[in-house]
Parts: sequence; C-alpha cells; structure tokens
Amino acid sequence: MANPIAEPDAVTSGAYPCLILNADFQPLSYYPLSLWNWQDAVKAVFLDRVNVVSEYDHIVRSPNFHMPLPSVVSLKDFVSQGRDPAFTRFNLFLRDGFECVYCASGQELTFDHVLPRRLGGRTSWKNIVAACSRCNLKKGGRTPRGAGMTMQRKPFRPTMHQLQAQGRRFPPNYLHKSWLDYLYWDVELER
Ligand SMILES: [Zn+2]
Repeated sequence: MANPIAEPDAVTSGAYPCLILNADFQPLSYYPLSLWNWQDAVKAVFLDRVNVVSEYDHIVRSPNFHMPLPSVVSLKDFVSQGRDPAFTRFNLFLRDGFECVYCASGQELTFDHVLPRRLGGRTSWKNIVAACSRCNLKKGGRTPRGAGMTMQRKPFRPTMHQLQAQGRRFPPNYLHKSWLDYLYWDVELER
C-alpha cells in the first residue's frame, strides 16, 4: 500500500483520522472521541466490518487498488452501550428518511412539533417530525388537522435496528462532507 504524505489540511496532526460511529450513527465515544488512524480504518473496510459514511478527497493507491480514505465509518454490528437511540437531530432526520413528513421534500428540513408547543406538545420522538420549512411555515401553530395537512407517517420512537436499516438506504457521502458535522448533528434535542 502506498504511504500517502500527510497534507497540511489534514483534520488534525494525526493526518486523516477517521471518526468511528456505532451502528446507530453515534460516535462510539466522545471522551476521548472515537478516532482511528487511516490505516486501521482502511483495514476495517477491507474486513467488511464498517460502512463508509464519508470520505476524504485524498486517495490511497497501490498497484492493486485505490480508494478514498474514509473520514467517517459506521460499525456494521452495534456495540451495545445499554441505551436506546439518542434523541438527536441526526437520528430524527434519519428516522424520517431526510424527508418532510408532509410533502416528502428533502429541502430545507426543519423540525415540527406535531401537537404545537402552545397546546402542550412535547419535544419527543412521538411529537417531532422532519418538515420542510415551507410546510412548517404553512402549518404554523396548528395541528396537522387544523392546518388541513396530512402526515405520510406517524412519528415513533425508533429502535436501533430501524435506524440501522434507514442508514443503509443512504450511500457514502450522502449525508455529510465531514465528520465534524456529526459532532454538531449529534447534539441531543432534549432529554
Ligand atoms: Zn414539506
């Protein structure tokens, strides 16, 4: 395998570190952040233990193969940490397939409280859906029925298994350019 020379814009001095997400797309650990060096990440790809979620532009070459270095991978097998999927922006959009629950648009996604907050609606798996900003604006502070809008599916609390199945629908690089996004996306909405 060729030995690529670290470029100055590598994310850290570790040169092409790869963020390791659990099968539920949570970083495997935060403190310290779960990172592998690129060699371990490439090895895990070849051993078919991970899905490549995002890649660097940098390509590693040898006479027999070439591949972009992975910047984010997710484990194929969930490492149990004894919890349900976290209620995060990322997981919520993933549950809803990155589509507005009212019109199926994938543009300018926001969160909508199905039962508005002013009517006692809570910020929870069962009351928050992905909605495009147009639909969100149209709905305003009303219930879907009050606004004459139809939900194409009801919000629910997903299992790890359901989120993993959703994750497989999205090819590498569909979601994010950089693993830094994951850290942002992973902020919990509300406990
Ligand atoms: Zn919409």
